[in-house]
Amino acid sequence: MPLEIVTVPCLSDNYAFLAHDAASGQTALIDAPEPGPILAELEARGWTLSHVLLTHHHWDHVDGLAGILERHPAKVIGAAADAHRLPPLDQQVSEGDTFEIGGEPVQVLDVSGHTVGHIAFYMPKSAVVFTADSLMALGCGRLFEGTAPQMWASLSKLAALPDETIVCSGHEYTQSNAKFAVTVDPNNAALQQRAADIDRARAAGEPTVPSTLALEKATNPFLRATDPVIQAHLGMENADPVAVFAEIRARKDRF
Ligand code: ZN
Ligand code: FE
Repeated sequence: MPLEIVTVPCLSDNYAFLAHDAASGQTALIDAPEPGPILAELEARGWTLSHVLLTHHHWDHVDGLAGILERHPAKVIGAAADAHRLPPLDQQVSEGDTFEIGGEPVQVLDVSGHTVGHIAFYMPKSAVVFTADSLMALGCGRLFEGTAPQMWASLSKLAALPDETIVCSGHEYTQSNAKFAVTVDPNNAALQQRAADIDRARAAGEPTVPSTLALEKATNPFLRATDPVIQAHLGMENADPVAVFAEIRARKDRF
């Protein structure tokens, strides 16, 4: 049985996630923006946290942790590289490490770029990856600490996961990401369809996260720096994908 994944909207536009294994009763929380909605969701479902997985040190992903641990004294797992600026960790992990939630393996991927030390958690049996502010729905995190080559390498690593992988990212930025995406990839029919779907979902108050990796690869310009049509549109035919990615990221920063 795959883990049951629950999306928990927090703050103004953050997402936390619960991953629950019915057989063992174990439940992991991925990121801790604020206690209120997360404690309420756990209460409503009668679940008790066994693990908290932290993706990176930004306040909007960790500030709720203390209030959550008061009620659910779970094991906190985060990046060894960021242990000095994360809340206290019970387990420090790095690229290539694997641990288990409810008997299911969880693989740690270094996805530095937004921050240096940002990690993603990939659960291959459930076909889900928690990417927070690295790969986002129709976007990617801003390069606050890392470089364009670093983020391109991180996104390429995520893009190599199976197409059916469910991408659980950290923010509801998708509608504004879509407005930008069509400026670099204006003739992409799949992108136009997705933009329309996003407008419909947001008008109905529905989240646009999670998505699938197949959809991101077809529509997310930050994964498409090797695409000849995008390269031509940018006047960068046959350019190094890192340079194309850097140009797309720079345009988004100015957008
Ligand atoms: Zn962040
Ligand atoms: Fe964030």
